[in-house]
Amino acid sequence: ETASNVPIRTICCIGAGYVGGPTAAVIALHNPHIRVVVVDRDQGRIDAWKSRHLPIHEPGLEDVVRIARDGAAEVRRRGDSATGEAIDAARQPNLFFSTACIATIKEADMCLISVNTPTKTRGVGAGRATDMAALEGACRDIAMHAKAGCILVEKSTVPCKTGQLIKDIMEAHRPGVVFPVLSNPEFLSEGTAIRDLMQPDRVVIGCESTISGHRAAAALANLYAAWVPRSRIAPIGIWSSELCKLAANAMLAQRISSINSISAICERTDADVGEIAKSIGLDPRIGPQFLKAGLGFGGSCFRKDIASLTYLAESLGLPEVAAYWQQVLTMNDFQRDRFARHVIASLNNSLRGKKIAILGYAFKKNTGDARESPALDVIRILLEEGPKSITIYDPLCSEADIRRELSVLEREYAVSMPDGPVRVVSDPYTACTDSNAVLILADWDMFKNSKPFTSSKPVTMAETYDGATPTDILHLTPNPKRATINKPPTPP
Ligand code: NAD
Repeated sequence: ETASNVPIRTICCIGAGYVGGPTAAVIALHNPHIRVVVVDRDQGRIDAWKSRHLPIHEPGLEDVVRIARDGAAEVRRRGDSATGEAIDAARQPNLFFSTACIATIKEADMCLISVNTPTKTRGVGAGRATDMAALEGACRDIAMHAKAGCILVEKSTVPCKTGQLIKDIMEAHRPGVVFPVLSNPEFLSEGTAIRDLMQPDRVVIGCESTISGHRAAAALANLYAAWVPRSRIAPIGIWSSELCKLAANAMLAQRISSINSISAICERTDADVGEIAKSIGLDPRIGPQFLKAGLGFGGSCFRKDIASLTYLAESLGLPEVAAYWQQVLTMNDFQRDRFARHVIASLNNSLRGKKIAILGYAFKKNTGDARESPALDVIRILLEEGPKSITIYDPLCSEADIRRELSVLEREYAVSMPDGPVRVVSDPYTACTDSNAVLILADWDMFKNSKPFTSSKPVTMAETYDGATPTDILHLTPNPKRATINKPPTPP
């Protein structure tokens, strides 16, 4: 049975983060007759989603949210004609943001679970196992308050067999009531979230092989079919679907570690990792994507998903599989460590009395997500050498977010920030003034194209890394204020 006869009028998306917010917005945009309510316990985040200053920065996100959240009349009233012309004049708002989780769950025909699933920090499996507390909490709320038959969709990345855990929670609270559970992993990348959601390579929908499972999957597929070609919507088994997200991230991260391992060999020979990446990328069996040597992967997903995969493999009695994927993480750490030690070596093996500037804190361009930044690992190693200061500039990350991430160093090094050695500043010139070294740690074009750092005299382009952006080490010009760095983008 594949035909859907499950009417979906109201969707509740639990979790208004990097996945929940954009995903709900795009579903609402393309399904104007369905009410989509995004709920979160975080009042500040919900307030921001309701405002003109959204809590996350993604190219194109504002337009999508404005149309779905405010409707055509409001978009026109504000004079936003570029977007207004493209939308149906009769379009009513159908995207809402709220902290009223329970009230929204009660109305919902479908709940998208988009809560955070970080790595456990303490207890059994600490550092590797997935912390399921937020997901369990959301499921308990659904179990206690949802209408019978409400469809539960795992959008969060979860260990394989989480669907069974969800069913167990539902059964414990509402014995005998059917709540179909689907797995619909999200493959968006931060920085290109809207493009990825609008034109996905594939939409994976995993369901159990039961009539209610197939009906629920068809109902979800119908939502996507409003803008995604049916040929890209892949129905698969629920366990395959859960595992395919971990596998996808593990394979992507593995490519980065693979090319980085080659870059280490390049550094000790006269080979150039850029030339190698280009040459091997021309082989269609390998392909050119994700072959850029650099600081390694960061962000909130790759590390935690590989950790989750290794923990899963180990708990299934497969230590060899766990060790295989663990090596991807080891190589990533090695790369950061190597880079930081190059910086130290290029500054005569001492950072005493020296100032370091860091351009780009987030793990890549076009995101303001400060979580799991490679910069943090680099800073940690540099701090061991007692530099006079480390000054950070990022075009999008808020100072508060960077500080929250850095606070772990306050404890580790018993330093007090903001007065202490690590500072966050709001323009690149201030960051670079009087620095002994400028480290470009994210691939923003404004940094990559900023020749001034390399052209004025005296400049020593440090021959420390294999030449790959985004991790060149550039010694600073004597008077950086005279240099013209490309104008930073105005933060949204
Ligand atoms: P996030 O931390 O930005 O957002 C999660 C939100 O859920 C938070 O705002 C939190 O307050 C809220 N929340 C937690 N428990 C709740 C509850 N019981 N009720 C209401 N709200 C609750 O996380 P994210 O980056 O959006 O990631 C969410 C999931 O998607 C994770 O499993 C992640 O692995 C996965 N994922 C993330 C990305 C990405 O690029 N960030 C991409 C694909 C998949």
